[in-house]
Amino acid sequence: MFTEDQLISISALQHWLFCQRQCGLIHLEQIWIENQLTAEGRVLHEKVHQSDAEFAGDARIVRGLRLVSFRLGLVGQTDVVEFHKSDRGIALPGTNNLWQPFPVEYKRGKPKKDNSDCVQLCAQAMCLEEMLKTEINFGAFYYQRPRRRTEIEITKQLRQQTENIVQNVHQMFESKNTPRADYEQKCKNCSLVGVCMPKTTGLNKRVDYYLSKAGNDEGLIE
Ligand code: SF4
Repeated sequence: MFTEDQLISISALQHWLFCQRQCGLIHLEQIWIENQLTAEGRVLHEKVHQSDAEFAGDARIVRGLRLVSFRLGLVGQTDVVEFHKSDRGIALPGTNNLWQPFPVEYKRGKPKKDNSDCVQLCAQAMCLEEMLKTEINFGAFYYQRPRRRTEIEITKQLRQQTENIVQNVHQMFESKNTPRADYEQKCKNCSLVGVCMPKTTGLNKRVDYYLSKAGNDEGLIE
């Protein structure tokens, strides 16, 4: 079990999948620079979190629920959790029914090619399971472009992948080392490219590389 000061943000998992160095810069070194993409995402999430809890048909909608898992060492916040009237799930105050929690994440763009969104949703579901002592096997995304709701299953395989990533990110925190840069196409869309300087700080541009190159140039290294 993790303690409160060891908890890492669920958002670190997505950053880790996008770029391990970006994850280190944001979560270890506390560097954050906004660009148009991150600003649009932030505004969308702020809007979603501002709305009050409400009823929609047979579902109760709760926004901006704080999440924690001491088993996984995670902390975060949902966009929306729908509680669907069901024959299993949890009891909600003021009602006589059982309710099945169903997390929903709002996304600024279209579905990503990698499964970082699914990992984020799975991490949220696992936090909710621990907090509410129930099982959650489904969740959904609401993508803005095109406007579409996509349901996903929280499979055993997705849970395992998520736990592996959580472990890797905890290891990075324990090591206190930000991974090195690896310049790739994605760097062009990264808001941290100015501080990261991936072309300069990448794997082939390490100090030992320069030293060995200088040594070779001067005939000092055989
Ligand atoms: S610029 Fe590239 S290497 Fe650096 S943090 Fe961003 S994605 Fe990662």
